Amino acid sequence: MRIADAHCDTLYEMAIMGQPLELCKVTPEAMAAGGVGLQTFALFAGRKGTHGTAYQDGRDMLDASYRLPVPVLRGALPEAFPDAPTGVISCEGGEMLEGSLERLAEFDDETRLRMIALTWNFENEIGYPAKSGSKAPLKPFGRALVREMDKRGILTDCSHLNDAGFYDVCERAELPPIASHSNCRWLCGHSRNLTRDMVKAIIERKGYIGVNFYANFLKADGPAALEDVLRHIDALMELGGEDVVGFGSDFDGIEAWPDHLESPADFPNLIQLLRDHGYTEAQLMKLAHQNLWRVLQLADRRRAY
Ligand SMILES: [Zn+2]
Repeated sequence: MRIADAHCDTLYEMAIMGQPLELCKVTPEAMAAGGVGLQTFALFAGRKGTHGTAYQDGRDMLDASYRLPVPVLRGALPEAFPDAPTGVISCEGGEMLEGSLERLAEFDDETRLRMIALTWNFENEIGYPAKSGSKAPLKPFGRALVREMDKRGILTDCSHLNDAGFYDVCERAELPPIASHSNCRWLCGHSRNLTRDMVKAIIERKGYIGVNFYANFLKADGPAALEDVLRHIDALMELGGEDVVGFGSDFDGIEAWPDHLESPADFPNLIQLLRDHGYTEAQLMKLAHQNLWRVLQLADRRRAY
C-alpha cells in the first residue's frame, strides 16, 4: 500500500540541529521500506530563528532540501502518485515570511510550497496559535496572505492555529482548509487537536486531516499504542471523514510515538491494523495516499506554472 505523509520535521533536524540524515527517522530507506511514495518536508520556523532569524532558518532548511536523497517535486505534480520515495515542501510557522508577500513569493517561486501552517506555537504577523487560547481571528496580514495563497495554489494548514483563526480561514479561503498533523480533541483534550465542529468544517469543504503520531496528541496520559491511532482514525471516519483523513506523522519532530510506529518503515503495521479492523481496500487507499494526493492536485490546478 503506497503511503503519503503530510508532515515531518526532517529538514529542521538536518539544517538546524545538524543531524546527519542517517540518524533521522525519515530516510529514503525507511520510506521505501514503509511504501512511502510522498513525504511532505516542512520548513519549520519553530523558535523564531535559531541562526539569526526565522527567515534565515527557512533559507537554511530550503538549502538542506537540495541535499535530500529523494527527488523533490518543485513544479507541477505528475498525474500519477509516485511509485518511489518523493518529497514536496511545506512551511510550518509563517514567521519566516516576515509579514511580507515578497518573502512568500521568494520561497514559493523557488520551491513551490504546497501548504503553509500559518502559525507554530507563537503569535506571529499572521495570527495566534492554539496554545495561546486567543479568541482573535487572523490579523490583516494573515487575511492578505490567505488570499495570495489561494492565488498561488497553496493550501492553508490550520494545525497549530487557534480555533478563531481556523474559522476565519474557513470563511475566507477558496481552497479547502487542511490540518496536516492534528488529532481529535474529544479523544485527547489538547488544544493542538481539532474539535468535532472543526473536523466537520474540514469534511464539508473536502480538505484534509493528517493524523499525528505524537503520543501526547493521541492519549492524555501514559504511552500511546498503535490502537490509539486507530481510535482517532475511527472517530474521524465516524464523522464522515473517509475522503479527508490521512497521515501527518510528525516524524523527526516528536519525542514519543506508539510502539510499532516509530518510523516511516512501520506504516505497514498501521495499515494492517486498519485492515484487520475491517476497513476495505478502497478505504485504505484513500487513507494511505489518495486523500492527500487529491487535495494537493486540487491546489496544483490553481497554479499557473
Ligand atoms: Zn507541528
